[in-house]
Amino acid sequence: MNAQSRRPLLVALAGATALSLGGLFWLSRGLLQRLADQPGDRPSLIDLLAEGPRPSPAQPRRRISAPPGQATWTSPLRQVCPTRDAEEEARLQGLLARLPQRRQRVVIDPSNYGERLRQDIGGNRLDPRPRLVVLHETVYGMESAINTFRTHHPDDAQQVSYHTLIGGDGQVVDTVPPEKRAFGAGYSAFQGQWAMTSPKVSGSVNNFALHISLETPLDGEDDGPSHSGYSSAQYDALAVVLADWMGRYPIAPEAITTHRHVDLGLERSDPRSFDWTALRRRLAALGVIC
Ligand SMILES: [Zn+2]
Repeated sequence: MNAQSRRPLLVALAGATALSLGGLFWLSRGLLQRLADQPGDRPSLIDLLAEGPRPSPAQPRRRISAPPGQATWTSPLRQVCPTRDAEEEARLQGLLARLPQRRQRVVIDPSNYGERLRQDIGGNRLDPRPRLVVLHETVYGMESAINTFRTHHPDDAQQVSYHTLIGGDGQVVDTVPPEKRAFGAGYSAFQGQWAMTSPKVSGSVNNFALHISLETPLDGEDDGPSHSGYSSAQYDALAVVLADWMGRYPIAPEAITTHRHVDLGLERSDPRSFDWTALRRRLAALGVIC
């Protein structure tokens, strides 16, 4: 192609370029105008640019296996309501009112508790609010339990804690705040529910449980099937701590259970010699059941 025959083509190209640039200018002006016209609650262009890239679509979720079958929990608190006793009601309401001053706080090693998680290892949402109470016993004294919780345990299998301990004399000692996750149960479930929050440990109730442990009497410091039981002061303290938790979290009376029941390893039998009638009477007096 010679220079002369190229001229009309160049003119056409120049015209097309000018038109395109004009069009682009018009389009961008229109876009800026529209953004500027948006009401105050819409993002400005600067906001949009500052926002950065949009988050990628949610990762595909992995189904977490259901826990193996276990016996259904029939709550002993559901049985016939006891007759009301005004004197006991006044005594327990007084204890509940004084609970904030009475409870002691002991700092334990951070390896023995963790955060309540909002997502399991499959990316599924978890409700981190406590909705289950698991009752335990210490087997050995309170001091022994507290020393264990104060010891640094880098190995997952040795990490252990309860939220609260109840001494033989009714002393209330908090070792893990309720909003944190105590490591009170291992392989465990309740009414077909557990949470898998780590690939290193099995499914467990810990993410949605509160753990409370009664100090075992001296004649129970063994692995025998029973002992002489817990003191009245312990049932009083247990009832007021439970009433306090039930007032703060969505915990139904049917969701107060035992370590023996939730344990899927069939290794735990605590709390042994527990008197459900003693607890039921106190919870009824406090008005949280019946
Ligand atoms: Zn236990």
